[in-house]
Amino acid sequence: MSAGRYAPSPTGELHLGNLRTAVLAWLFARSTGRRFLLRFEDLDASRVRPGYAEQQADDLAALGITFDGEPVVQSARQERYAEALAALLPYTFECFCTRREIAEAVSAPHGMPGRYPGTCRDLTDAERAARRRVREPAIRLRGGGSEAATDLLHGMITGEVDDVVLRRNDGGTAYQLAVVVDDADSGIDQVVRGDDLLDATPAQARIARLLGVPVPSYAHVPLALNADGVRLAKRDGAVTLSALARHGLGAAEVLTMIAVSLDLAAPGEPVTLAELLTRFDPARLPPEPWIVTGLPG
Ligand code: GLU
Repeated sequence: MSAGRYAPSPTGELHLGNLRTAVLAWLFARSTGRRFLLRFEDLDASRVRPGYAEQQADDLAALGITFDGEPVVQSARQERYAEALAALLPYTFECFCTRREIAEAVSAPHGMPGRYPGTCRDLTDAERAARRRVREPAIRLRGGGSEAATDLLHGMITGEVDDVVLRRNDGGTAYQLAVVVDDADSGIDQVVRGDDLLDATPAQARIARLLGVPVPSYAHVPLALNADGVRLAKRDGAVTLSALARHGLGAAEVLTMIAVSLDLAAPGEPVTLAELLTRFDPARLPPEPWIVTGLPG
């Protein structure tokens, strides 16, 4: 059965932009008769903080967002990622670069910002053996060529496939692999998420094709930005449900703010998600980022 999902990383409280993306993902799924799943992307232990998964689930529930079944938790799924990685090994290479080496190579005259510079792509066996003595390798997809996926808001997304990390050098599964395995295992065929992940899509489509699983359709939705055009963050004032509540703005008021930003309600109009569902039309979503101003705090 087809499904959509919301997949936060439990690294902090959800802010207005995250909550708006969650509302949109729910609207896209429910308006097309899909199941809707919650998944916690908690693979990066250095960023995950205890308690935030529960708080994120509570905040989503406070807005009226409903999920089918229990949340999927990535850290409990290592076996599946290991199986997928084994299947992908012929299409990978070991990478010994540090972050710093990559940053330096990328900023060199012919470097391509945001892309792996190819340093370890074609090491000889002897070079690899020597480097392994110094550092554990990460495993990267041997990208290249282009890949396409359909996006309900952006049309066809076509892009060059980067050499993304599948397994980090600390042995942890990288997001790019987990996301594809999880979406496939959960039967997710509609991915609604922030448009900061547009560039990640070609590599994820490639991974899906190599694993022989369907590529979902996407809707990359605009982010919430502050008045300077920078991604909304804590320093912009009360941006989380708990902070807004301290200023007397409850979940109902926040849902109205989000609905207004989506052109689905008039300022101050009380709404429920069920009402928003009757008004929702993907073709009429504001295509530009949500500029959030006038927050208390
Ligand atoms: N966990 C990612 C985030 O919080 C979202 C990944 C996705 O939706 O594919 O930004």
